[in-house]
Amino acid sequence: MGKADLHTHTNASDGDLSPEELLEKAKSKKLKTLAITDHDTIKGYLKAKEIAPDFGIELLSGVEITALWNSKEIHLLAYNFDDEDHPFRNLLLKQRTARKLRMQAIVEVLNAQGLDIDYEEVLAEANMGNVGRPHAASILIRKGYVSGVAEAFIRYLSSEKLKGVRTNYASIDEVIRVTKDANGVISLAHPGRLYSDGEVFSLIEKGLDGLECIHPSHNFSTQRKFTALAKSRNLLITGGSDYHGTGKSEYDPYLGIVTLGDQYIEAIKRTSENRRRIVNVVN
Ligand code: AMP
Ligand code: ZN
Ligand code: FE
Ligand code: FE
Repeated sequence: MGKADLHTHTNASDGDLSPEELLEKAKSKKLKTLAITDHDTIKGYLKAKEIAPDFGIELLSGVEITALWNSKEIHLLAYNFDDEDHPFRNLLLKQRTARKLRMQAIVEVLNAQGLDIDYEEVLAEANMGNVGRPHAASILIRKGYVSGVAEAFIRYLSSEKLKGVRTNYASIDEVIRVTKDANGVISLAHPGRLYSDGEVFSLIEKGLDGLECIHPSHNFSTQRKFTALAKSRNLLITGGSDYHGTGKSEYDPYLGIVTLGDQYIEAIKRTSENRRRIVNVVN
């Protein structure tokens, strides 16, 4: 049995490492299977796909999509989708634009609080990758407004502090539909600290295929609770380290440590292969 990590980020979104550097690191941690799940982009995955065999790593297609559910931003993980599927690619393009518009609005909120930060410098920090709040945090740190990422989120960037900022992210229904139409599977990211039990049930009813049971934010009892729930509902079990780079987030030490047994990968593949077969029969 090998180790899998189905939740990692590269510099195509808010991670520090290039896809190649991440593969190198994954190899050094003896991972057999990897999914790069950047925020709303598969550019890092597509780069890694070409070279993953050189590292002896099996790479699944992956992406972490921000979706709107009851006006809340939630994270969904999509896996094993057809990476050339047009509606899926279009969804990600729209998400990229939604991220930019949202960052413009966030910068306005920060400016109104007297902070000297501008949108162009946040975009430059993202360096062509998909922009996100961690890029704004880096600038606030550099300018001395806060001492670290955690403080940046507590004081300025949490969803609580940015409540007035409206976003154009896709709805959960659209994300689930488009992912399944691309023969992908969809899992609820890091549910542990975010939702009540009732909310998790409502989210499952939306048509999720799986739950991210294994995540650094889950202690052992949370992990057990979600694993039992997934089994009882016949849902896929997914998991990973949510690695963003070196010292960037509290989860970063967990690459190679918070892992998923690779027997779960077969179930994920089977679910999306079944989706492909059903489409073929219908056609
Ligand atoms: P965004 O993509 O703009 O919604 O930002 C989400 C990302 O911000 C997450 O993937 C984390 O990398 C990071 N993040 C969210 N909350 C925190 C926090 N409290 N401390 C540090 N990083 C955070
Ligand atoms: Zn992130
Ligand atoms: Fe997330
Ligand atoms: Fe993540």
